[in-house]
Amino acid sequence: MKIAVIGSGTMGNGIAHTFAQYGYQVNLIDITREALNKGLNTIEKNLDRQVSKGTVTAEQKISVLQGIAAFTDLKEGIADADLVIEAATENMELKLHIFRELDVFARKDAILASNTSSISITQIAAVTQRGSNVIGMHFMNPVPVMKLVEVIRGYATSDETTATIMRLSEALEKSPVEVNDYPGFVANRILMPMINEAIATLFEGVAGVEEIDTVMKLGMAHPMGPLQLADFIGLDVCLAILKVLHSGFGNPKYAPCPLLVNMVAAGKNGVKSGEGFYNYAAGIKDAAVSNKFL
Ligand code: NAD
Repeated sequence: MKIAVIGSGTMGNGIAHTFAQYGYQVNLIDITREALNKGLNTIEKNLDRQVSKGTVTAEQKISVLQGIAAFTDLKEGIADADLVIEAATENMELKLHIFRELDVFARKDAILASNTSSISITQIAAVTQRGSNVIGMHFMNPVPVMKLVEVIRGYATSDETTATIMRLSEALEKSPVEVNDYPGFVANRILMPMINEAIATLFEGVAGVEEIDTVMKLGMAHPMGPLQLADFIGLDVCLAILKVLHSGFGNPKYAPCPLLVNMVAAGKNGVKSGEGFYNYAAGIKDAAVSNKFL
């Protein structure tokens, strides 16, 4: 089975890495060589970490890297794929544009999946002529480590497509969970209001960054506090998901906290931009948000 992954950012490079690690041939596609090189460098760094932990051998590292081919041309990259997984930026117009192209240029029997965190699979499928072959395949970050795949059935997704994606997730030693297509699905419908509330708690001066994260880590046995998790997900991604929940349900409880809106406007997007609620300069993790921003 040949896999094409669109987008080589946080998620796309992790998805390509995971499929290649399990022996699949992967075409990784992004709009620029720079973005592709960044993604490939991340895969190599993550493989080095796996080798040092002993979960992957040095020979496997080489075969994983050899199993991934990089493309800037979408048409070329998806031509012979059995499954295309879209992991481009979380933006509805962009995803609809990509799926229109996929429908024209991908093989007629190919499954078209999206790794979207919150955008409607039914709406994405509606711009194609193959709604039964369109599905959500929502991996968690970091993809090589996290076991969950949220498999999202759009209104028109067939049983056969769903069964194929469930089986494929198991072949990657993941645990797939089937859910229906409503805003935020299950994972982000529950996670994002918690992150938004943690940001509001900071915004209102109830406690500082480290205090909030410590309460949730030690008090609720979360492996990571919600503000640090938001930095890992990307604050721009969190904001985009909250906007989908807010407009999708029309309920003010999902309105993004103004501090989150401001931080994204200032380019403080978390780990990927070097600063979010914490500062990641030179590998140091210090609380970055002080009272002057509140
Ligand atoms: P990112 O910003 O790290 O990467 C997005 C990549 O898509 C960039 O490299 C960009 O150049 C590329 N891209 C944009 N337009 C493109 C196009 N037309 N063709 C090819 N590539 C294009 O974003 P991310 O965090 O990897 O998120 C990707 C998707 O995964 C989003 O839908 C997001 O909601 C979802 N997701 C993210 C997380 C997370 O923790 N970050 C978790 C689960 C799902």
